[in-house]
Amino acid sequence: EGDGRGIVDRALTAAMHSIEENEAELGRLDAVAADGDHGLGMTRGIRAAVAAARRLEGESVADALLAAGTAFADAAGGASGALYGVLLAETGAGLRGEITAHTVADAVDGAVRAFVELGKAEPGDKTMLDGIEPFRAALREHADSGVADAWRKAAQGATLAAQDTANLLPAKGRAARLAQRSQGHADPGATSFALIVTAVGEVLGR
Ligand code: ADP
Ligand code: MG
Ligand code: MG
Repeated sequence: EGDGRGIVDRALTAAMHSIEENEAELGRLDAVAADGDHGLGMTRGIRAAVAAARRLEGESVADALLAAGTAFADAAGGASGALYGVLLAETGAGLRGEITAHTVADAVDGAVRAFVELGKAEPGDKTMLDGIEPFRAALREHADSGVADAWRKAAQGATLAAQDTANLLPAKGRAARLAQRSQGHADPGATSFALIVTAVGEVLGR
């Protein structure tokens, strides 16, 4: 709490720095079998999300995340923009009450349901979901350890899972058309998700 900024601002700002540092790498991964714009889209989206959350300084975590999600989707564009927008906004919608590891796990469950409803991906389709689903499950599994520890363990799981997507063939999104080309390369969306949750984990409980 030290620097006086809200937790949503600090979390999204940390995520923004990580995305900015990795913009070129995310673009490179997306260019392997698709259109190469994932780094640029993510940078635009996360910058807009941070700006929106800062405008709501002093409002609730729920309202800040809802605004951030809408801003992200509008600014990022693309398949992943709409999907990240839903994840952020629905996580916010699930955090109206007390914030504990268990209510965060519940909120993430709801957000992942909305994400799957929109994108229709299944596990193993080589999408963001292959990073998101292990994150969701680990957050629940470790909820008794408190938000910060559970989040960091889940982020480690998402990072390993994102690396493992290199062994998968894409069945959803733009990359599905040139699926073979992506063999041996991680999914860009799963990679950006792992970067974001790792950066957020570093500011939680500090
Ligand atoms: P676009 O394909 O519109 O250029 P991006 O390059 O920003 O969008 O994002 C590509 C990423 O979006 C993929 O690597 C994948 O993780 C994710 N993605 C695409 N379609 C879906 C989907 N239907 N469900 C889940 N994730 C998806
Ligand atoms: Mg793309
Ligand atoms: Mg595109």
